[in-house]
Amino acid sequence: MRVEPRPSILSVEPYVGGESKVPGVNRVMKLSSNEGPFGPPPSAIEALRAAASEAHRYPDGSAKALREAIGARFGLDPARIVCGNGSDEILTLLLLAYTGEGTEIVMSAHGFLMYDLAGRWAGARVIKVPEPDLKPEVDALLAAVGPRTRAVCLANPNNPTGAFLPASEIARLRENLRPDVLLILDSAYAEYVTRPDYDPGHGIVDRYGNTVMTRTFSKVFGLGGARLGWCYTTPEIADVLNRVRGPFNVNAPAMAAGIAALNEPGWIERSVAHNSEWRAKLTAALSAAGCRVWPSEGNFLLLGFGTPDRAKAADAFLKARGIIIRGMAAYGLPQCLRLSIGLAEENEAVIAALSDFAQRHG
Ligand SMILES: *Cc1c(COP(=O)(O)O)cnc(C)c1O
Repeated sequence: MRVEPRPSILSVEPYVGGESKVPGVNRVMKLSSNEGPFGPPPSAIEALRAAASEAHRYPDGSAKALREAIGARFGLDPARIVCGNGSDEILTLLLLAYTGEGTEIVMSAHGFLMYDLAGRWAGARVIKVPEPDLKPEVDALLAAVGPRTRAVCLANPNNPTGAFLPASEIARLRENLRPDVLLILDSAYAEYVTRPDYDPGHGIVDRYGNTVMTRTFSKVFGLGGARLGWCYTTPEIADVLNRVRGPFNVNAPAMAAGIAALNEPGWIERSVAHNSEWRAKLTAALSAAGCRVWPSEGNFLLLGFGTPDRAKAADAFLKARGIIIRGMAAYGLPQCLRLSIGLAEENEAVIAALSDFAQRHG
């Protein structure tokens, strides 16, 4: 006899993050995890330093100052905000609280993998809905909802495809879901979206309820290593999250860094301007180099290489030049690679390398 976990746990493959090292290469360009390319905002670095001398004190378990700073920055009621150790924690807590054995979760076929992982932790059956052209379809998602469905998870824009759904489609999704189905709108890339017809989700929360919008400090704010995320939802769902989260789930240095980052003047504007400029330039240059480039509203591009072998060859070719991007086999897209938009010189290096690759490999 030995101890055994619940059966669904062993169906989970341990998560493998983006690589960060290449043997034999000193200076790598890490473009594999969609981290903002500029590092943390200077005021956040300062706040982390200052927090070091207070590290013996427990953090404020209610994250009051951080929730107020988020509320002020985005025009939201702090009482409806819950913070987490990354938005991954919030996604996990939601699925543990609202789904479980005998229930189902609906997501798009190439949606963010975290929903699949956390859904299995909860013991739920995760249904992946096919998406032609790698774009989630509201009608197909709705058609997959059955009597056991307790949650629908949708990243908008989606990682890794970059796909975007306009506000009207998100509203149509919520309007046609039963009220007892939780809608999780993961808006990790909200700041980067430039389309005018975007609703990151707070409008849906306010209008319909039974919905959560999750956000993160890991992308535009450059604080992935600090682990900080948050959500905006109804008072009822916020209450549930406050019951299931750890009493001190967000650490004090992360909270201080988050508050500083929110108040760094011009940070989002500068980051988004850089991202939009390079998203367009990279799309044009890499299409010219023979890649299929899907439209993206995020800080990354999904690149198609035709076959899994050609994608592997391109990945190896880039790696030999110290450029690390992300393989997509875990997402069911072995013919693709995902490129995070980096600093100007990193982007130039990617363009040069993939142009070179196209010439040598046809
Ligand atoms: C990066 C990312 C997250 C963020 O996760 P954190 O735990 O906040 O770092 C959430 N959802 C999607 C779709 C992402 O790409």
